[in-house]
Amino acid sequence: QSFEELGINPEILKGIYSMNFKKPSKIQEKALPLLIRDPPTNMIAQSQSGTGKTAAFVITILSRLDYTKPEQPQALCLAPSRELARQIEGVVRSIGQFVNGLTIQAAVPGAVERGAKVKAMVVVGTPGTVMDLIKRRQFDTSQMKILCLDEADNMLDQQGLGDQCLRVKQMIPAVKQILLFSATFPEEVMRYAKQFSPSANSIEL
Ligand code: AMP
Repeated sequence: QSFEELGINPEILKGIYSMNFKKPSKIQEKALPLLIRDPPTNMIAQSQSGTGKTAAFVITILSRLDYTKPEQPQALCLAPSRELARQIEGVVRSIGQFVNGLTIQAAVPGAVERGAKVKAMVVVGTPGTVMDLIKRRQFDTSQMKILCLDEADNMLDQQGLGDQCLRVKQMIPAVKQILLFSATFPEEVMRYAKQFSPSANSIEL
């Protein structure tokens, strides 16, 4: 199967091919048809890093945006460290490089000035910083379409991060699609995943 056959839009395809991805990885082939179909549905996915999961959720995010609203946050990706958040931001920029009007912003400690508004469609951040920005009304979540939590198992290994993600989710009541990725699913992570992403499809990758 090819990326074209998955129904991905041409501007996103151009970005994918410019990264030299010839065809979908196993996880992408399995997950993308479920992730990008309408109406959007929640998904819990088991996948190790190195499988192409980042591109899978980045392609999904880029497929969901309303490009007429560049300053309106519409997608949020939460990562357990600022390094991972920056990496994901880079993947959004690369795959999205030919997408007209795409705006991206990182929400990690020190990245958003005090009092300044978050003015990008795609926001990639760490839970504490995102939570503070929403509380201080610097981050408008009223038009949020998609929420993605990456590396849930690492998130839960760090004191307080899991709870912060849940609180962020509660501050985004209008969200249409919630994705959760984790390399491993011990019972505690599975219980958390079902709470974070209710009635989700689950896939193993
Ligand atoms: P990840 O699982 O997100 O950590 O990605 C692992 C690596 O695979 C990254 O270096 C990606 O650039 C690369 N990658 C992702 N999707 C594909 C694909 N369809 N074909 C070839 N490489 C890919």
